[in-house]
Amino acid sequence: MTSLSEFSRAVERCAAGRGEYCRMHQSLQGATFHVEHIILRSRGGKSEIENLAWACLGCNFHKSNRVEVTAPDDQEPVPPFHPRRHEWDEHFCSEGYQVIGITRIGRATVETLVLNHERRIKIRQDVLTSSSLYCTL
Ligand SMILES: [Zn+2]
Repeated sequence: MTSLSEFSRAVERCAAGRGEYCRMHQSLQGATFHVEHIILRSRGGKSEIENLAWACLGCNFHKSNRVEVTAPDDQEPVPPFHPRRHEWDEHFCSEGYQVIGITRIGRATVETLVLNHERRIKIRQDVLTSSSLYCTL
């Protein structure tokens, strides 16, 4: 039987240090990212690789225990982006320093997780204008 810590290491390796929602690299945020339960255990989520994601503190905080988020298009509920079931590039793209949602799920996730918060924009700007770091979007 695989333990949660083994799953956690596998998730971290798979994410290569980048948050699976915002795609920002852990080295840019000065805080250790977390392995989060995509669907919280309190909502029936299991501690299995299919339900674990590598997330920065901001994404983890804003996502919280949500299983639905509101699509800005029509104010209807949609599931948030699911790093194990969805492909990031199918729901988001980057434009300049911003993450753009290109589907209802993507747009709802961008808003809910505040992926274009001023601080995040500043970090992306600093990365893109630094010769020693690379863009993680
Ligand atoms: Zn994040």
